Order: sequence, then C-alpha cells, then structure tokens
Amino acid sequence: MIRNVLLFSEGSREMRDVLGGKGANLADMTNHGLPVPPGFTITTASCNRYYEEGQRLQKALIDEVEQAMQQLESMTGKVFGGKENPLLVSVRSGAAISMPGMMDTILNLGLNDETVQGLIDQSKDKRFALDCYRRFIQMFGNVVLGIEHHVFEIRLQALKEQADLTDDTQVTAEQWEQLVSEYKKLIKKHTKEDFPQDVKTQLLQAIEAVFRSWNNQRAKIYRKINNIPDSIGTAVNVQMMVFGNLGDDCGTGVAFTRNPSTGEKKIFGEFLVNAQGEDVVAGIRTPRPIAELAQTMPAIYEQFVQLCNLLEHTYKDMQDIEFTVERGKLYILQTRNGKRTSQASLKILVDLVDEGVIDTKEALRRVDAEQLGQSLHRRIDPDAKVEVAATGLPASPGSGSGSIVFTADHAEEQMKKGLRTILVRPETTPEDIHGILAAEAILTARGGMTSHAAVVARGMGKPCVCGCEQLSFDPENNCLWIGEQALKEGDWITVDGSTGRVILGAVPMIDPELTEEMKKILEWADQYRKLLVMSNADNPVDARRSVEYGAQGVGLCRTEHMFMDPERIPVVQNMILADSFADRKQALDQLLPMQEEDFYGILLAMDGLPVTIRLLDPPLHEFLPRIDETTSGSMDEAIVRKVKALHESNPMLGHRGCRLGITYPEIYEMQVNAICRATKRLIAGGMNPIPEIMIPLIGHVNELRILREMVERVIQKEGLADRNIPIGTMIELPRAAVTADQIAQHADFFSFGTNDLTQTTFAFSRDDAEGKFLQVYVDQEILPANPFMTLDVDGVGQLIRMGVEKGKKTNAQLKTGICGEHGGDPKSIAFCHEVGLKYVSCSPFRLPIARVAAAQVAI
Ligand code: ADP
Ligand code: MG
Ligand code: MG
Repeated sequence: MIRNVLLFSEGSREMRDVLGGKGANLADMTNHGLPVPPGFTITTASCNRYYEEGQRLQKALIDEVEQAMQQLESMTGKVFGGKENPLLVSVRSGAAISMPGMMDTILNLGLNDETVQGLIDQSKDKRFALDCYRRFIQMFGNVVLGIEHHVFEIRLQALKEQADLTDDTQVTAEQWEQLVSEYKKLIKKHTKEDFPQDVKTQLLQAIEAVFRSWNNQRAKIYRKINNIPDSIGTAVNVQMMVFGNLGDDCGTGVAFTRNPSTGEKKIFGEFLVNAQGEDVVAGIRTPRPIAELAQTMPAIYEQFVQLCNLLEHTYKDMQDIEFTVERGKLYILQTRNGKRTSQASLKILVDLVDEGVIDTKEALRRVDAEQLGQSLHRRIDPDAKVEVAATGLPASPGSGSGSIVFTADHAEEQMKKGLRTILVRPETTPEDIHGILAAEAILTARGGMTSHAAVVARGMGKPCVCGCEQLSFDPENNCLWIGEQALKEGDWITVDGSTGRVILGAVPMIDPELTEEMKKILEWADQYRKLLVMSNADNPVDARRSVEYGAQGVGLCRTEHMFMDPERIPVVQNMILADSFADRKQALDQLLPMQEEDFYGILLAMDGLPVTIRLLDPPLHEFLPRIDETTSGSMDEAIVRKVKALHESNPMLGHRGCRLGITYPEIYEMQVNAICRATKRLIAGGMNPIPEIMIPLIGHVNELRILREMVERVIQKEGLADRNIPIGTMIELPRAAVTADQIAQHADFFSFGTNDLTQTTFAFSRDDAEGKFLQVYVDQEILPANPFMTLDVDGVGQLIRMGVEKGKKTNAQLKTGICGEHGGDPKSIAFCHEVGLKYVSCSPFRLPIARVAAAQVAI
C-alpha cells in the first residue's frame, strides 16, 4: 500500500521528492537525534491526488492523518483537543524544491475555547495562551478562510492605540481575550459561520489550505521564474508546537551558518526574545543580531553553534536554519541550503574545499557557470535607487552610464574628448563598430539576442540592451522618446545589459573582479576539462585579455572588423568599387601592409599559441555607404550605381564567404600574403607564431579544393611551406556537414560556425527572427530555447555530429572545434564535449564560463 503519511522518524534525507525538502530534512534531523519537535509529513503525491480528485481530501488520507495524530499524542503525552495538556500543532507547507515564503503555514492549531483553558492551566500563563489563540484565529482566518490579513491587523492596532501601547509584548491577558472575541466575530461576519471549535475540522481544513497554497498566485509566479515544474506538488508537515513566546527565557530566530552576501564563515542571523514564528520576519519588532544570543543565552548559543557545524557537515553546504527556544530548550524547526549571492557562493565553495567538507569535483559541480560570468562585469550597485524608463533584451551583461549619442561617429568624437557615451540606435551594422568600441554601452530599438549589436557587444564585453521596443526615434527634433519622455543627445542614461533595464541618469556601479576564489575554481576546472578553450578575438588587446581569462589560442579571428577602421574604409571602398583588376590590385596593395600589422599584433600577443584567422566573410556591400533618397544626390553617380549593383535581397545567402574568394581571389591572396609576412617577421624576431587559415562558408568540396590550392601557392611563394600552416574550413552550411567526408580531404580542421549553421538549418534569419517570432516560439514552447543561444541538439547538433564522424572517416588527423556564440553557452559546451570536439571558442568574457562548463561535463 502506498502511504500518504510518514512520521518524521520514518522518513529520510533521500525522500525529498516524496516528503518535500522541509519534511525530508526534518526526518533526517530526527533520525540523527537533533532536537526537532515530533511530527509527520503528508506526501507530495497526496497533494497531486487532492487536485486530481477535484480538490477533495480522500478518505484514506484522512484515516492516515488520524492515525498519525494518535501516534503523535502518545509520543508527546498530550491530547489533541484535550482540556488538559492539549496538543497544538503547526501545519506547514514544503515542496521538494525550496520556495521560501511562497506557500502557507498555520501555527497553534488545536486551540479552541476549551483547549485554551488547558493551555492556561498547563503554562500557568494566561497572557501567553490567549496570545497563541488570537494568533491562531488570525492565521486560520487568513490562510484557511481567505480573510485579508489587514482585517485583523486593524483591530489589533486599534486596541494598542486605545490602550496607548507600542509593543505587542505590552498587551495584557485581558486585552488579548477581548481581541479573541473580536476576531471570532470578524470570522462570523466574513464567512457567515462560526470559527470552527472542532480541532479535527481545523486540522483537515488547514491541510487543504496548504495544498491550495501550492497554486496561489505568488507560488505560481515563483515556479515560473525558477523553472520549477507545477506537477511536483507540496508536502504538508504537521508538527507539535514549541513556544518561543512563553517569557524571557524563550525566543525564536533564523540564522545562516555563513554570511549569505559575502560568504564569510561566521554565523549570521537574527532572533527575538519572547516571540513566535514569523515575528522575526514580520517586522513587528526589531530582531537582535544572533551574536547577542551569546550574551543573553550563552548555553543555548553554544549548543546552537555546535548544531550549525553539525548541520553543515551533514548537508555539506551553508545552511539556513529556523529555531525556537522554549523555556531554555533549543529546537530546530527547519534547515535548508541557504540562498546566497554569486560572490558568496564562490567563497563558500572554496572554503568548503579548504575545510575538507567537499572535494574540488563537487565544488565544480555546484558552480553556476552562467552566474560566474555575470560577476565579471561592472554591475549596478544593488543598493542604489534607480528609475527604470524602459526594458529590452539583456543582450550583453554589465552596466554602463553615459550621455546619449545617436551616431557611431559622435560616440568616437566624445570618447576622444574623454567623455562617456551610450550609443542609441534603431539597430547597428558593421559600420557602427567604432562607435560600439567608443561607447560605454549600446542600446538598440530593434534586433534580438544575436543581432549585430548584441554579438559585437558581447565580444567586446560591452553592456548592451537591444530590441527595446519602447524607444521611438524622432530625427526631426533630434531626440528619442520613451513613452512621454523625450531624451536629447547629451542626456544621461544607464544601460543594464544583465537585466535589460534602461535607467534615467547615472547610477553608482561596482567594479568587476577576477577574485581569488574565481581563480582557484578556474584552476580546478582546468584540471578536469578535456575541451580546449579558445577565444574569439580580432585585435591584440582582446587577444591578450583572453589569455588572462585562460584562452589557449584564438579560435576565431575575424578579419572584417579590421576593414572597418575609419582610416581604412576609403581604401576598402576603393577596392570594392574598382572597375578593373589593376585598380583593385592598387587598393589591395595599400591594404596589405595594414593587414600585415593586424596579424603581426595578434600573433605576437598570442606567441606560441594557435591563431585561427578567418578570411573575409561578410557581403561586400556592408563596407559601402548606405544609399537612400537623402544621400544619393550628394554622391558620385558611379558610386551610387555600383552600390546599387551590389545590393542583394538576401545578403546572408549571397555573395559572401568563400564565394568572394572564388570571384575575387586577389582579396584572399592579399590576406594570406599579409599573414605570411607577419609570420616571417615574427620568426625572424625569435618568436613562435602559429597561424591557421580558415575559409568560411564552404558548401561544396570544390570551393575548398580551389581555395586551398590558392592559399598553398601563396604560402609556398612566401617560403613558408615547411611551417605546415594548417588550412581548414568553417562548417556552417548543412551541405558542408552532409558532405564532410569529401571536404575533410582538403581540410586540416573543421570549425563549426553554429550561428550560420543554425540560421541555415532552420532557415531563420538571425537578424530578423528574434524580434519577429522566435520569442513567441520560445514562450509557447514550440522550441525549448532560442536556438541561437543554446544549440539545437536534435537538429543542428546532429549535423555537427555527422560532420565530425564523416570528417574523421576520411581524415583521421582532422581537428574539430566550434566558434559560434554557442561556444560560450554551458549546455552547448556539454554537447561539444560529448560529440568529441577538440575545442570551443568564445568571446573573451565568456572564457571562465566555458572553462567551468567544460569541466562540469568531464567530471
Ligand atoms: P516557511 O516555509 O514560510 O518558512 P515554515 O513552515 O517554516 O514556513 O514556518 C514558518 C515559521 O513558523 C517557522 O520558521 C517557525 O518559526 C514557525 N513554526 C513552524 N512550525 C513550528 C512549530 N512546530 N513550533 C514552533 N514554531 C513553528
Ligand atoms: Mg521556514
Ligand atoms: Mg558564419
């Protein structure tokens, strides 16, 4: 027979799913002989059955509850509903995953007009007993009968005012008695029924109310935010009451075994003398810091400290403990793993390893990789008061304050003057790169989490909020509207890329830090992970920084950003607009030394580590001025014609990637030439440059065959043939994955470009899909996640798997890696490990996340 009810002594720590977290830990503590008031737990399955049966308690459950109450009576020597020595209980909620304060609890259940007399006789304290009674009526009225809390509070306030009292502890027995009768009248008035005097009715109604609280509004929202399934249900714990409100040798409190905001190993908490349950959190009286307990109740404090240590050792984590002292005796009412800040969580993990409580593997398992990354950015001081004007997508974490600018050029000008700006645009394009680099943070009205602005900002570690649809641009008045509010260029705002908030004015910030704890955890991660971590970096500064964050090379060095430099763009444009080969060659000759310097700088910064350089990838028109009615008049007619000719309906599927290399081989030749020259100079200087050349957007083996021959020819001509510079390709088109066996015969490595591969597999335009429909797909659970953020394992992932398997079949030496945005996403990294990739490459700021995530799948 499946049991609905288990005594604490019958449960165990492993039974979380059945007994809830609170119930399982109460059982565990009971079995370890800790001072826990006796009681029993009604299983979570009973809660689900309650809902299945149309919100009615089943007879079998009622019988088991009655039986358990009898056992509780014999354990305590008290009688439920008894005139002498009455048994009072609490009825407490508690799901398998802790949802602090979200559901309901009722205290002092079992009191009625008769048993309250028994409590008076037994405690010899009339005031106390009536205090319990009025608390019970109020809680029962609120939780079970659904009468608003303040209906009762008003009466209590009125009573205190009349009698000129400030504190609940000053209320006399007679005054509580008067309040009890008022409360009973209130119940009658609101429910048209008398307050139930039958204790069994009280209990069953309370159990039902706790079941119902599983579906109250705040619990539902909490589950949604925290991804807790609705189906798990809550358990109900029925437990003998102990009293912290029986006098000055009594009290109640809540304590963490370590400081939850800093992680410091020191008991942290609060308690109240002569008080019950929720008084500590309810703010009725100001609680005292727990350390004072050492003075007021030294013996209790000492015992409490010992219990804290014991509980930490048992649960191997920082504990959040609820306790009550009744007439000099300590009781533990709850323990659970305490919630904490990201900073505290890292410190606690490192300390627990130092103390020998857990090993480094367990510590790594517990790290929240994503949270680790967040603490690497400047953040808004959590204590600061802020005025949120609008909210968009949290595209790149960290926060920045500055004055509004509407153009990239303006951002750059301001930066040169040493001024901080926020670049606000409808959307950004590669032309805005210098502005993104110059601004403190980026805000766009359109575009999703992988829009241009978002990707570039993340790569640079710049805070970015995008897709903020409340923004409307008013170019006529050179201002920006957020609702009724007009913001002009020069007005200050703050952008919080971690939450998506747009805040008016400047806000105090806290600096990012790679703390000692973080460094330690990353070192542990490096011991276990099998995947190499590389960075996406396209300048020496990013490359250097990425080494600090643990990069073992550059997995993706994009060359297009180098073309966007304001000094070069005219030359690049000349190259693109050239009508003859000779003209183009002239422009390329000018670009050659510039590219050589770029590669020299990066290869130098990464001396001795591989740098995978991708030849030019984007459609050429991205480098050209934009033509519309207002600008075309002022431009050279030939230019206008050429720009129009380059226009494409689907540029992402157009003339880009290796297709440029095929149609304009001289562009790729120049780039390879520059790589070779930089390499030779470094070798001459005694360095060890390790360039690798990567060709983008291969769909057919012949493309790679032709371009590889071309690249090899240049390398040969430059006298570097014996360096065996690896030449490889991106796998970012489904056809490339499907024909990987053919392609691998001409490739030394595959780098899966999962941004494009996702885009081309789903046929989702990455720049448009997110704002238009992707969010709906995620909200309606048509897709489990945004596939641009978390790799679509079933689809895109299978293409990767196929690419690796087929590629290795014809080329056993093939090196494989991933360089899309997914390279920094923990779930995607786990997949990369499983399919046997050699490395992941991601933006520098995500390297710590990648290191930890790679370790987590390997242990
Ligand atoms: P929550 O999940 O909201 O913390 P609890 O079930 O833990 O709800 O109950 C809240 C508080 O009620 C406890 O912290 C404790 O102070 C008090 N309480 C619960 N059960 C008892 C009991 N058996 N005796 C005395 N106080 C209790
Ligand atoms: Mg609690
Ligand atoms: Mg690509």
